[in-house]
Amino acid sequence: MKYIKLFEKENVSKLCYGTLSLSKLQNSDTLENKVRLLDYAYERGINFFDTAELYDNYNILREFIKDKDRDKLTIASKSYAYDKYTAEYSINKALKEMNTDYLDIFMLHEQDNGNNFLGHYQAVDRFMKYKDQGIIRHFGISTHRVEAVKDSIKFKEIEILFPLLNYKGIGIQDGSIEDMTEALKKAKENEKFIMAMKIYGGGHLIREAEKAFKYVDGLSYVDSIAIGMSTIEEIEANISYLENNELSNNIKNKIRNQKRSLVIEEWCGGCGNCVRKCRQNALMLVDGKCKVVMEKCVLCSYCAGECPDFYIKIV
Ligand code: SF4
Ligand code: SF4
Repeated sequence: MKYIKLFEKENVSKLCYGTLSLSKLQNSDTLENKVRLLDYAYERGINFFDTAELYDNYNILREFIKDKDRDKLTIASKSYAYDKYTAEYSINKALKEMNTDYLDIFMLHEQDNGNNFLGHYQAVDRFMKYKDQGIIRHFGISTHRVEAVKDSIKFKEIEILFPLLNYKGIGIQDGSIEDMTEALKKAKENEKFIMAMKIYGGGHLIREAEKAFKYVDGLSYVDSIAIGMSTIEEIEANISYLENNELSNNIKNKIRNQKRSLVIEEWCGGCGNCVRKCRQNALMLVDGKCKVVMEKCVLCSYCAGECPDFYIKIV
């Protein structure tokens, strides 16, 4: 395992376990099996875990954390808090449901640009107070947009950037991979800690997973790579790409042939909430029912949280 420094914290694994893949939005396995998978990753050296209020999976992290030395783990979460009260709700929920005293990283989820950030400033202000108290160690934003990365430089409060980044630029909403690269280089010059997400383009680059991984791993301005994993084979594959170890043919084939899709249940009533939420324009209403264009979907599950009846799943 490669380890990095997260500001003052040493020995944080460069590979961050993205737990969206273990949320009910994407995974129907038992709690025990999900915790077993996190334990396996931990035994293999991964000690950095990312979650979010949207993923509704703090209970899995709670079970995982309970027999570990908390200070040896790095836990990141995020929410859509927009004022003091929603910020307090988000932090109290995360602390209570994961049974932890602090969060190494807390972020505002899915930020578009500086104006969007300013619109959440009451929440940011409350997060800064939590930071002063040591309840949040570092604060940041997640984003699929170049503009948000560029604008982050204007805000000293933003220490962590969690952008979408893959070698084809799949899912970047407002520019190319070159635009994102340039913005991230500038952000790095301004001492932001950079965690890359969606390095496999929401599954579109899985047939060339090693190439996709090595592209992001080779970028000097990327500190950490967050990847959603739901099998031991995926954990092993990502570790082998990171460590330049040879993978067995069996695992190579399993990874190459895995296919995940977004499924909308036939009961969909066509309310359109999910269509409005999807910024990748991957959803549309046809004859009163929601349909997905898989070529555009990056499996972020943002839409799933909008469905009042939980009709959207990633399988
Ligand atoms: S359809 Fe849903 S999962 Fe796919 S990109 Fe849009 S919001 Fe994300
Ligand atoms: S939010 Fe749910 S019910 Fe509404 S259109 Fe989307 S899938 Fe259908």
